[in-house]
Amino acid sequence: MQRLTLLGSTGSIGESTLDVVRLHPQRYNVFALTAHTRLDKLMEQAREFSPQYLVVADEADYTRATQLAEAKGINSEIIAGSQALEFVSAHEDVDTVMAAIVGAAGLLPTMAAARAGKKLLLANKEALVMSGQLFMDALESGQAQLLPIDSEHNAIFQCLPQDYVYGAPERKGIAKILLTGSGGPFLHTPCHELATVTPAQACAHPNWSMGRKISVDSATMMNKGLEFIEACWLFGLRAEQIEVVIHPQSVIHSMVQYTDGSVLAQLGNPDMRTPIAHALAFPERIASGVAPLDFSTMTDFTFQAPEFDRYPNLALAIEACQAGQYATTALNAANEIAVEAFLQGRLSFTGIADLNRKVLDALDSCELNSIDDIIGWDNEVRVLARQAVTQPSQSMLGT
Ligand code: NAD
Ligand code: MG
Repeated sequence: MQRLTLLGSTGSIGESTLDVVRLHPQRYNVFALTAHTRLDKLMEQAREFSPQYLVVADEADYTRATQLAEAKGINSEIIAGSQALEFVSAHEDVDTVMAAIVGAAGLLPTMAAARAGKKLLLANKEALVMSGQLFMDALESGQAQLLPIDSEHNAIFQCLPQDYVYGAPERKGIAKILLTGSGGPFLHTPCHELATVTPAQACAHPNWSMGRKISVDSATMMNKGLEFIEACWLFGLRAEQIEVVIHPQSVIHSMVQYTDGSVLAQLGNPDMRTPIAHALAFPERIASGVAPLDFSTMTDFTFQAPEFDRYPNLALAIEACQAGQYATTALNAANEIAVEAFLQGRLSFTGIADLNRKVLDALDSCELNSIDDIIGWDNEVRVLARQAVTQPSQSMLGT
């Protein structure tokens, strides 16, 4: 029996994880569930899975959560705040942690799971992008096992040789990683119309159903940019060893190209329950509830190179990846502020990449040697990015 903590259980990945867990009650037991705003959803999950702990991220919600639980006859212990998130991540009774909080808010509890040597299922790519080497060091010091949940990285993981050597793809005859992406909802929209697209249009992804932040990131292809950086860390790759390929049908989830000309791909319907089931059961295989791929109904199967004019955020992320940790942490922070402003109607869609570029251009390189450095830098960049939202015409230099 594996005991699970689900960080971000009320989100899209959290719910998909519980869908898989529900199919295998003899294998998985839920130890803790965590939520930020959707307390009703959390209580519904608690009634079904009876976890030992329920965590509400915001301490201000503690009283309301205990009242809700009492009214519904839920016996789980309720705890609140960021330390409570770390507590259920690192708890000795937990085997596996699903890191599915969105954004920088997931950094500390995800790091806690790494340090505590858990089997860590990583969906929260922002945590890795913002902390890079420190995150990898935490995994090593805790002897944690990391399994990627992002469908692309899960696909790459499945296509790499079992004796893959971290940081040395050429030793196993690997020429390149082909990171696929659908291109999002605006693949064919004339570029001059992008300035006026709405949050609802940006969140209407053609193939995947996801949370709002990652949906916007998919539309700008910042998601692919963050995944590019994520792939560098997860597999020890240099930027030139990764190529982004647009594949609008999202059936191939990524590929590994070998020097002999072979390309190995992982395919499946675009449904996150497949990578979640893969990682939960690894190295075994279990049912995920996903319908099998039906090739007879597949009409198109196409590929193209990304246009960087259409997706300036993708170019920015690759640049940041080459520039180093200060730049990737900064880009992630600026982007979180920009996406939030776009979703609130305070910034245009094309303003997201403009803001990210402006913030990155205003920064000088610096060393980030600890998690405190990372959090301090992340906060500094957020201040700058918020200023850029409210005073878009002002120069950011000298702030
Ligand atoms: P979502 O918005 O649906 O859910 C986010 C979860 O995080 C919720 O449970 C919410 O309560 C929690 N949360 C939000 N803010 C928080 C805070 N300040 N403190 C604590 N908890 C907080 O997002 P999602 O689509 O499930 O994505 C989660 C993560 O997985 C993201 O990092 C995303 O990039 C990654 N991911 C998602 C998908 C997908 O298909 N949805 C695919 C690959 C990777
Ligand atoms: Mg992905």
